[in-house]
Amino acid sequence: MIRVQEYRPQAFTDFTKEENVKAYQEALAKVRAEIVGKHYTLIIDGQKVDTAERMVSLNPCDTDEVVGTTAAATKEHVDQAIAGAWKAFEGWKKWDMDARARILLKASAILKRRRLEACAIMSIEAGKNYAEADVEVAEAIDFLEYYARSAMKYAHFGSAETTWFEGEENGLMWIPLGVGVSISPWNFPAAIFLGMLAAPIVVGNCMVVKPADNAGVIAGFIADIMLEAGLPAGVLQFLPGHGSEIGDAMTGHPKTRFITFTGSVPVGLRIHEVAAKVQPGQKWIKRTVMELGGKDALIVDETADIENAVTSAVQSAFGFNGQKCSAMSRLIVVDDVYDEVVGKVVERAGKLTMGTGEENANVTAVISQKAFKSISEYQKVGAGEGKVLLGGEAPGEHNGKKGNYIQPTIIGDVDRNARISQEEIFGPVVAVFRAKDWQDALDIANSTVYGLTGGVCSNSRERLEEAREKFEVGNLYFNRKITGAIVGVQPFGGYNMSGTDSKAGGPDYLSNFMQLKTVTERW
Ligand code: NAP
Ligand code: MG
Repeated sequence: MIRVQEYRPQAFTDFTKEENVKAYQEALAKVRAEIVGKHYTLIIDGQKVDTAERMVSLNPCDTDEVVGTTAAATKEHVDQAIAGAWKAFEGWKKWDMDARARILLKASAILKRRRLEACAIMSIEAGKNYAEADVEVAEAIDFLEYYARSAMKYAHFGSAETTWFEGEENGLMWIPLGVGVSISPWNFPAAIFLGMLAAPIVVGNCMVVKPADNAGVIAGFIADIMLEAGLPAGVLQFLPGHGSEIGDAMTGHPKTRFITFTGSVPVGLRIHEVAAKVQPGQKWIKRTVMELGGKDALIVDETADIENAVTSAVQSAFGFNGQKCSAMSRLIVVDDVYDEVVGKVVERAGKLTMGTGEENANVTAVISQKAFKSISEYQKVGAGEGKVLLGGEAPGEHNGKKGNYIQPTIIGDVDRNARISQEEIFGPVVAVFRAKDWQDALDIANSTVYGLTGGVCSNSRERLEEAREKFEVGNLYFNRKITGAIVGVQPFGGYNMSGTDSKAGGPDYLSNFMQLKTVTERW
């Protein structure tokens, strides 16, 4: 057993304190001096491998600025990385669980020391404001701390319970699966990227990881920390590259044992399909762990504390510009209080400041030109499907800087079957529904194929109990915002098309990356 105190999530930083703001700004300056402009190579078998193509990561809030570059892996690199990872697996699987967990704890210690730098990179590369970046790095640290401790329960023969049978010893052995592929999104480019690689690695797997192409710099920074913490060569193969070019090669490879993916439904389903097809030379059924999109709803009924509901709605909808899988993109209000609640939400959201992540604005630019186009298209679709109550424009610049700026947009009186009610927009665009009553509100909430997060603001005990049972989501929140799940506190993952409900940051998450062998010895 590793000697550690009980797991406790990291505290968040209080940016109402002047000294914390100052420290953040110093970190921004340090990152601008030392990291902006840096190039990150592939890392295969512990060696830096460069490529002719360099993928460019831009500052979404000032798209004339290049934040850094990464190499771009090809299919040959995928083959090399997978072969190298299997070689490394021979040694890594025999390490003590304690020793592997110690590497996560050492990485956590390094990341704690460099917490502000990691935040500052994401302010520049992804447009996160201070609090959004801070909670994300806290989550990244939490994943390391939590999974290091969780691993202990899988360390020994017999740690999973079996029934005693006279004359025999029976027990279960947990064994790692082998070499996995991890493919992550850009919206939590530190926490999700790190959590998805640290979990399989700590229980003995080797990983080939591809970060999203819009967030290569923070991924390179995190990968370096894992290697600095002492991962042996080949255990972590770092392969930035274009999903459209190497994605299928990674997931369809006959030697890929499992895939852990977080991203959109279309890409997730594509991976599921590619992984299902057995390739020549393949001797297992690939396991897929999928965390996909959402169309998350908050219900407000006539018994709710209105002020609290308004705060919950605005925070859930517009934190990080709605670019969270958990973000509220549907607000469902019962008719009795519709005008009051919606009026206040619009008023409050109208006061959000727009600007860069570095300026710590409430609303910043969305991640990419591609996202900008798609979201602004939905703004237009929405204008035809309801009443634009706030925003509706996509200026594409702010304070003389070109960037992917989109106004927070609220569209009222939308039909539950409209496109903006059913399709994930992944930006600061909210559809509002007028429900006849509580039952109608619950029906609207359950009327999509998704089931990720959801919430109810109500003071009716019966309704909350009914929602507990009937609201189809993996993460359900009452009388608070529906974003911001904390590792170990709110294990995270969705139902239905939102994923395989693996519950990242939950007590059994690591078992996604292991298999069990039952061993019986007759005495
Ligand atoms: P995405 O477009 O689905 O991309 C996710 C990853 O898949 C990227 O690394 C992408 O590479 C890669 N990819 C693209 N095509 C591929 C293929 N054919 N095979 C394998 N990989 C491929 O999603 P995103 O825009 O990065 O992230 C936003 C989405 O993630 C939203 O739908 C959001 O709801 C979801 N999300 C879900 C959760 C959750 O926990 N449920 C958490 C966060 C985000 P490139 O970047 O190179 O294209
Ligand atoms: Mg970028």
